[in-house]
Amino acid sequence: MSEIRKHYFLDEYCIIAPGRSKRPSVFKAEKKEKDSNKCVFCAGEEDKTPLATAVYKNGSILKDSESSRVTGWDVRCMPNLYPALAPDAGEVNSDHEVFPGYGFHEVIVETPTHENMLPDLSDEEMSLLMKVYRDRVIHYETFDKIEYVSLFKNWGEKAGASLEHTHSQLIAMPIKPPLLMEEMKIIGSFSICPYCDIVEKESKGERLLYENEHFMVIAPYCSKVPYELWILPKEHINHISGFDQDHLDSLGIAIRSALSCLRDNMGEIPYNYMFYQLRDEPEYHFNLKLQPVTTKTAGFEKNTEVYINTMPPETAVKYLQGNFQDGPE
Ligand SMILES: [Zn+2]
Ligand SMILES: [Zn+2]
Repeated sequence: MSEIRKHYFLDEYCIIAPGRSKRPSVFKAEKKEKDSNKCVFCAGEEDKTPLATAVYKNGSILKDSESSRVTGWDVRCMPNLYPALAPDAGEVNSDHEVFPGYGFHEVIVETPTHENMLPDLSDEEMSLLMKVYRDRVIHYETFDKIEYVSLFKNWGEKAGASLEHTHSQLIAMPIKPPLLMEEMKIIGSFSICPYCDIVEKESKGERLLYENEHFMVIAPYCSKVPYELWILPKEHINHISGFDQDHLDSLGIAIRSALSCLRDNMGEIPYNYMFYQLRDEPEYHFNLKLQPVTTKTAGFEKNTEVYINTMPPETAVKYLQGNFQDGPE
């Protein structure tokens, strides 16, 4: 039996159609042998990339120069070789509304070790990565004409990662994302924060996958894709700049827990995760959305923006906790 579910508070819908699915394990990804050759993101290959703008090494933050590149680093941030937006955007001329492609596009290499994935990192390494996320977002938000910093991760070729060495990206841009602004408008029309409401309602429910002191991981009621997960701070905080060390520690462990559940039960499934935050809007509630890539967005979704999801989030949580037995094929 399929059902049409509405998003917690937005005018978004998905069709949960388990009848179309087979068993939870059909989404399992084959383990891919990693290319053992070094890539340009590996330790020792620093001279094959643009100069790093921030290099985290033994508690210090350093920079590359033309004459010397920092080696022995923990996390390395550098401009994307093929930037979507760049600081030296020229003048533009058009009959349509147009802005120069001004902005910054940065790659954050999360570990010097090619074989590591985020679930392999220690508590301290995850915490450092969260600090880097916070620093780099705040850094770009101070630039004139930058309206929004999009922070995201693509993992796996099907999720849009062109290099297999694990990394995140950020794009600092001169416009605000319309969907997020629309969401903010709707949030502003409520007397209490709808995300705080979600935190309260889902904290004891069957869609809760993991929680620690400051964060929880849930499979949202209206999941657009199989195994979609949201990571929410339990307190109302609008932006990563509001997180102290304790929050960063908790956030790192929450992200790793979500990804470990996926890897342990689904194999090396491709995914995207995206940070949603608005620094100038205290009413916004920070959230991180993680979407595995198991299906293709097809004509129906493009036509209606209604997603057909064959994996009910309640079953997804059971499966990710290792509590679901597959039936016969
Ligand atoms: Zn590598
Ligand atoms: Zn809230």
